[in-house]
Amino acid sequence: MDTPSDCRINGGLRGSQRSDRRAGSGLVAAVCLAAAVAGCAAQGRTGGPSSGAGVSAAPAGADGRSQKQQGGPPSEAGAAADRGGPRPPAVPLALPGLARAEEESSGEAVARQEAAVRAGLETAHRWGLEQLPPRAPQRPLVKPELRPAQGVKLQEGLPPVVYRVPTDEKIVFLTVDDGAEKDPDFSRMADELGVPLSTFVADYLARSDYGYFRGLAAQGDAVNNHTINHRNLKVLDYATQRDEICRQQDQLEQQIGARPRLFRPPYGEYNDDTLRAAASCGIEAVPLWNEEAFPDRVEYRYDDQRLHPGDIILTHFRGTDLWKGTMPDLLRKVVNEVTAQGFTLARLDDYL
Ligand SMILES: [Zn+2]
Repeated sequence: MDTPSDCRINGGLRGSQRSDRRAGSGLVAAVCLAAAVAGCAAQGRTGGPSSGAGVSAAPAGADGRSQKQQGGPPSEAGAAADRGGPRPPAVPLALPGLARAEEESSGEAVARQEAAVRAGLETAHRWGLEQLPPRAPQRPLVKPELRPAQGVKLQEGLPPVVYRVPTDEKIVFLTVDDGAEKDPDFSRMADELGVPLSTFVADYLARSDYGYFRGLAAQGDAVNNHTINHRNLKVLDYATQRDEICRQQDQLEQQIGARPRLFRPPYGEYNDDTLRAAASCGIEAVPLWNEEAFPDRVEYRYDDQRLHPGDIILTHFRGTDLWKGTMPDLLRKVVNEVTAQGFTLARLDDYL
């Protein structure tokens, strides 16, 4: 799939489809995208200014030139190089002027796509990934309806408790708790990879630098409520629980600029008082989790040891003092695990 040989195979196919040259160019572009430019650009577009430039996976020059020289008659190769477009092996060049102009603009579009793919690959490689994760889906127009089911606990008049968002889409959600480790590489990595985060922040850990969480919010990540002091709420009376939750609502509204709609109780421990207290200061849903991620592993709640559509994944703002790895290591582990199981990371706040 991602070998240069695929490009050659499809390049040949393209040559045989000479009745539609633009479609052929599109095919080459699509194959180049799929092949993640691993040599494809050099083979298909040896004349282009961007072919191979700065691509670690595709050392442009030699391979591209040799491919080009192995093809059809020398005159064709020369004409193709003049146009800067893909070289059609063994195809007579009798294009009218208009078709030639179209091919040029198509060639430019291909070059732009290739440049974008190369930039994406460079970003992925910089963070130790083979490729970018699938792009998060657009925010749904309507949030999924929450019904009593596995993964959703509903009580009349109280915010729903959700372990898994009801959906058929192969999406899962990454949530990051507490706020002790404020690793700028982690927020930059998530941003550059396009991985959306929903965070649940406890004031006693975050207050040393709320600027870090404002930065996350500015890049589109959600900053939600995880109480003031991260106590086990279940053992506290209603008034104390309400103080823990609602003061953090006020604090986050002041520090981040938006009042959270989501709240996660520390340790996942809660009772009806917790839900009543949360509802009283604006909380609409209480997401828990089905998986917990670490830099070296993902732990699953269910015996099948797999992700399910709508699963919520928990992790923490933690560093190497407590973990066998950094937060970028953690994110790399999550992205690889999620992608390998055919899932895409989406933004929890868009679905609850
Ligand atoms: Zn916590």
